[in-house]
Amino acid sequence: MYSNLYTFFANRFPTNTAKAVIETSDGQSYTYAELDQYSARLAGRFRRLGLEPGDRVAVSVENSPHALFVYLGCLRAGLVYLPLNTAYQRRELEYFIADAEPRAIICRPQAAATVRELAPAALVETLDERGEGSLTEACQRLPAEFTPVDRAPDDTATILYTSGTTGRPKGVMLSSRNLAANALALTQAWGMNEADVLLHTLPLFHAHGLFIATHCMLLGAATMRMVPRFEVAAVLELLPRSTVFMGVPTLYRRLLGAPELSRALCRNMRLFTCGSAPLTVETFNQFEHRTGHFILERYGMTETLITTSNPLDGPRVAGSVGLALPGVSLRVAGEDGRPVPTGVPAEVQVKGESVFRGYWKQPEKTEQDFTDDGFFKTGDIGRLDAHGYLFLVGRAKDLIISGGYNVYPKEIELVINSIEGVVESAVFGVPHPDFGEAVVAAVVPDDAGRCPKAFEIIERLRTQVANYKVPKRVLFVDALPRNVMGKVQKDFLSQHYSQLFSER
Ligand code: AMP
Repeated sequence: MYSNLYTFFANRFPTNTAKAVIETSDGQSYTYAELDQYSARLAGRFRRLGLEPGDRVAVSVENSPHALFVYLGCLRAGLVYLPLNTAYQRRELEYFIADAEPRAIICRPQAAATVRELAPAALVETLDERGEGSLTEACQRLPAEFTPVDRAPDDTATILYTSGTTGRPKGVMLSSRNLAANALALTQAWGMNEADVLLHTLPLFHAHGLFIATHCMLLGAATMRMVPRFEVAAVLELLPRSTVFMGVPTLYRRLLGAPELSRALCRNMRLFTCGSAPLTVETFNQFEHRTGHFILERYGMTETLITTSNPLDGPRVAGSVGLALPGVSLRVAGEDGRPVPTGVPAEVQVKGESVFRGYWKQPEKTEQDFTDDGFFKTGDIGRLDAHGYLFLVGRAKDLIISGGYNVYPKEIELVINSIEGVVESAVFGVPHPDFGEAVVAAVVPDDAGRCPKAFEIIERLRTQVANYKVPKRVLFVDALPRNVMGKVQKDFLSQHYSQLFSER
């Protein structure tokens, strides 16, 4: 048992605390003992600042070992860690600060003036990507020991705002229990161990980079090679000295774009995982062809952490996000919460220790999103096969209703993506005077000029899917709009093309 999430991790640190926990691409190295000392000093600093357990600490800094120490320092001091994307603009920061009411904000030096203006009541400290700033300076002479503050398993440990592909961002409250349960399930499912070297390129302000990747590394008593931002060249250089890589589909596509990617380069790798956005069957196959590795796709969301995963040993099915993890109850169910028959698409609903406590200050929204029997309604539409593998077919919100018929964009995208000359596509709905909504496809053609014309794509689709699902328009674009985690922003597309069929 543990009374603080930090202790939960520390109990599993390697016996040899001189082992490297983080090595950066520019040559810095930190041991497990140093991680313990740095996070102790930070926790001590927070206490001296007068912060009390349960207070929120908003952190908007670049990826760096110190960013991770700050997270662990917050846990030790019982503070609620609240990471914010450094790309947020003033207007967005204003919203988060007003909503979360952090008592302290740690930001990049160049953002300090704006942050002070937006949050006059908060304590503001700075930290840059080299680990320097007012926070580090203030920590220097503090004791390198700190007894973690007792917290109840259900106390909130972190708040993460969900990525803005849908509406107003909501603060997701995750407890120590949620985080510990998921970290343990994943470490076991993916066999993380002391020999592992995780090649880490994901942002630490997102659940994927912070909870999935970092927690697995810590719990496995492994080592992290940190590349502050994903860069193909850096990843290619470090792959031969790594064993695990966790990515989003965009990163895999970029790696495939490098002619140097080969089996030889991946000779020491044992695991590539992927999630946060749909991995196409083409990318999965191409990656296997080039490297000999079947990408292990998994599924989750900030609210639930990871709930399904393809197996480490056993078939990794292309196009599927895998099986429910141990400890997760997963069902594909209708509005009434009753599971639908195998193979039929409906909403994915989950229950388990990793499912969040609720939305910050939004109890009604929290209540709406849970069923009476305690399942969280993910808003993702999926179907289960006879072996329990989950296939996602879209988000409930993406659902297009055209002429009274439901169209799941994913289904159409798969068909369009299989056409030679198409790199990728996004299918979305726009207002239509007759049908209510019309199906529209944005298509990225390849550079070789092999992509068929719009009417040819439409003709091809007519032979493959029911007429009501065929896009009324196919538009060519250079690239799909994506948010920072690589998710296609369908809301943006729908809005941008909203006048396409308007009557004048
Ligand atoms: P976030 O809370 O930002 O992690 O976003 C969660 C959403 O990302 C989920 O509700 C899914 O719609 C999507 N997602 C996560 N993993 C996958 C995956 N493997 N395939 C397709 N979509 C995914």
